[in-house]
Amino acid sequence: MSALLFLLSSHLLFAGQSRLPIKLEAEDAELMGPTISKTRTGYSGSGYITGFTKEGDAATLRTKATGGIYEVKIRYCAPGGPKGFGLRVNGSEISGMFPATGDKFNTIIAGKIELKSGSNIIEIEKGWGYFDVDFIELVPTQIQQDLCKVPQALVDSQSTQATKNLFKRLSASYGQRTLSGQYDINDTSYIEQTAGVTPAIFGSDFMDYSPSRVEHGSNTKDITERVIKRAKLGQIITMSWHWNAPTDLIDKKIKDAAGKEIDASWYKGFYTNATTFDLAQALADPKTERYKLLIRDIDAIAIQLKKFSDAGVPVLWRPLHEAEGGWFWWGAKGPQPFVQLWHILYDRLTKHHQLHNLIWVFTVGSNPAWYPGDNYVDVLGVDAYPSDHSDPLSGIWEDLKRQFNGKKLLSLTEFGGVPDAPKMHRFGVDWSYFVSWPGQVKAPSTSVSTLKRIYQDKSVINKR
Ligand code: CA
Repeated sequence: MSALLFLLSSHLLFAGQSRLPIKLEAEDAELMGPTISKTRTGYSGSGYITGFTKEGDAATLRTKATGGIYEVKIRYCAPGGPKGFGLRVNGSEISGMFPATGDKFNTIIAGKIELKSGSNIIEIEKGWGYFDVDFIELVPTQIQQDLCKVPQALVDSQSTQATKNLFKRLSASYGQRTLSGQYDINDTSYIEQTAGVTPAIFGSDFMDYSPSRVEHGSNTKDITERVIKRAKLGQIITMSWHWNAPTDLIDKKIKDAAGKEIDASWYKGFYTNATTFDLAQALADPKTERYKLLIRDIDAIAIQLKKFSDAGVPVLWRPLHEAEGGWFWWGAKGPQPFVQLWHILYDRLTKHHQLHNLIWVFTVGSNPAWYPGDNYVDVLGVDAYPSDHSDPLSGIWEDLKRQFNGKKLLSLTEFGGVPDAPKMHRFGVDWSYFVSWPGQVKAPSTSVSTLKRIYQDKSVINKR
C-alpha cells in the first residue's frame, strides 16, 4: 500500500469512527412561535418547547457534523392525540407522526437524514401542531443494503403462471432496485418524451365501472381495453377502484357541520361525505338489499378483471385503498367491516369468479387492526404525498420493514410527484416499485432535470 493510499484509508477510517451522536436540546433552538416551558416534568436539559400553533411556527437548530446518514430520535409529547410533524434538514424535509403520549414524554425514531460535513440547519416545523419537543438526537448509522427478504409465494395458490412470473420479477429486484410507475396516459407520454424511457408500471382505475356511476351515465372510455393495450406494449398493470357507493348517494351540494360547502354529487360517491351508505349495517346481514348490492358491484368489476385474465395480463390489484384514512366509505365504519369486506372481495373474485391473475395490494396505514391478514395480501403499499418530493420516507419504511420484512413486498403505491428513488436507496429505502399519481410529473412539481435524473438512474427499473 502506498503512503498516500494508507493516509487516505486511515483518514476514512478515522472519519467513520469520529461520527458521534449529536444531542440538540429543543430549548436551545432559535424560536419562531414556540416558547420554552418547564411545566411538564421529566424533560432533559433546561426545558422543552411548546406552542406550535400557527402556520410557519418553527424551531431552528444548528449543528456541526461529520457528513453521513444519521438516524433521528425525537423526544416529544403529544398530549391531545397523534400529531404529524415536519423536520427540515438543510432544506430537505422529512415528515412523520408522533403517536399520542398523554402527559409524558416519549422518544421515537423519526427516520433518517443526511448531514453534511460542517454546519447543518435543522428546523422543527409545525406539522399538525400542538406537540412539545424536548430534544432531538442524531445517531450515526450505517445503511445496510440488500437486507430485504423476499416473500415466498402469492396468497392465491392457484395463481396463473404469468402472475407468478410477475411476482418473481418483482421479488428478483426487491431490495436493490425500484420499478418505476405512473398513473395516467398523458403523464406516461410526457415521461417518455422527456426522459426517453417508459415507466415499468402503468396505473389506472375502475371507478367508472361502478354500477352506481353507470346508472348515472358515466363514460368508462373503454379503460379496460386501453389498459390491456399498455400491457401488450410491455408495461406492468396496476388497477385501483374508486368504488362509488352501491346506493345511498347524496347527489347534491351540501354543507358540513362547519358550514363549508361539500360537493356530494353522484360522481363523488366514493367519498364518505357524499353517501349515507353504511358498510357495517350492510354487512350485518347477507340477506339484505344493500349486502346484495355490494356483491353486484364486485361482480361488475369481476367482468373487467376477467378481460385482463383472458388476455393473460396479471394485475397489481389495489382495491379499497386508504381505508384507514376514513375519507372513503369503505373505511368510514372502522377496521372490522373493512376487513370483512376485503375478505368478501377476495373470496368472491378468487373463488366464485376464479380470477387467478391478481396480486393483492393493500394500502397500509399505521393501525394493524386494518390489516386483512397474511393470507389475503401479497404486497403492502404506502400512499404518500410529502410536501418535499425528495423526502425518502425512511421513518415509514423502517417501521414497515420491522413488521413485514420477508413476509410481504413493500411498495409506494401512490406518490404525489416523482419519488427520489436514487436518494431513497442511499437511505436504504428500497420500495419494490413506485407509482406516481397523475398531474405531478411536470414543473413546478417535478423539474425536467429531476425527472430525467430519477428515471435514468441505475437504481430505477423502467419498461424493458
Ligand atoms: Ca430539553
